[in-house]
Amino acid sequence: NVPVLTIDGPSGSGKGTISRLVAARQGWHYLDSGALYRAVGVAAGWADVDLADPAALVRCTFDTKIEFLEDPVSRELRILVNDQDATDELRTETAGAAASAIAAIPEVRAALKDRQRAFRKAPGLVADGRDMGTVIFPDALYKVFLTASAEERAERRYKQLKDKGVSVNLDGLLREILARDARDASRAVAPLRPADDAVRIDTTGLGIDVVVERVLALLPA
Ligand code: C5P
Repeated sequence: NVPVLTIDGPSGSGKGTISRLVAARQGWHYLDSGALYRAVGVAAGWADVDLADPAALVRCTFDTKIEFLEDPVSRELRILVNDQDATDELRTETAGAAASAIAAIPEVRAALKDRQRAFRKAPGLVADGRDMGTVIFPDALYKVFLTASAEERAERRYKQLKDKGVSVNLDGLLREILARDARDASRAVAPLRPADDAVRIDTTGLGIDVVVERVLALLPA
């Protein structure tokens, strides 16, 4: 029975960074489930699929080829969607909004279930998302739920984008984050909530290293 650590939380809570670092330290595999939703959203855009047509989106979900390639030296992850490098496009707010829209469709979530579970391979898996501990890996031995204030999450995203040379407006980002939170928390299917047995960590004001150590402390040495 391969051990799984689930790390769920809202966007900007630090899930992605923390999950990658913990996976690297443990030598475990890493699942970026948000990237799967983003990839389907982007592929739907490329194919002009109507985001309001559930049946077409389900077909698109099954038809979209998604590959994660890790550079063995830098450990940087490239994501190929239908054989095209879509790494940068997947990170945009447009892709995030498309992901959030299609993620509200139960059949799309169901269509991605087995693909996500297939990431569970020895010696272990760190699964990053919204419903990893509640729906995809409810039997996971280790579960974490990360939070941070909306203001801090907007600031983190602002810095990330600024470092990449993208000019953005902090207030606009905060509004987008609050809107996406509201949509993710209020949707009928898999609303964002911590698993009952998840350890909650509020990362507001905490450095990345501190959070990584707290999460690693939950795992067997
Ligand atoms: O984590 P990330 O920002 O990449 O996720 C993009 C969107 O995909 C989220 O806003 C959420 O609506 C959706 N998502 C989800 N379930 C997951 C991962 C992401 O519904 N496990």
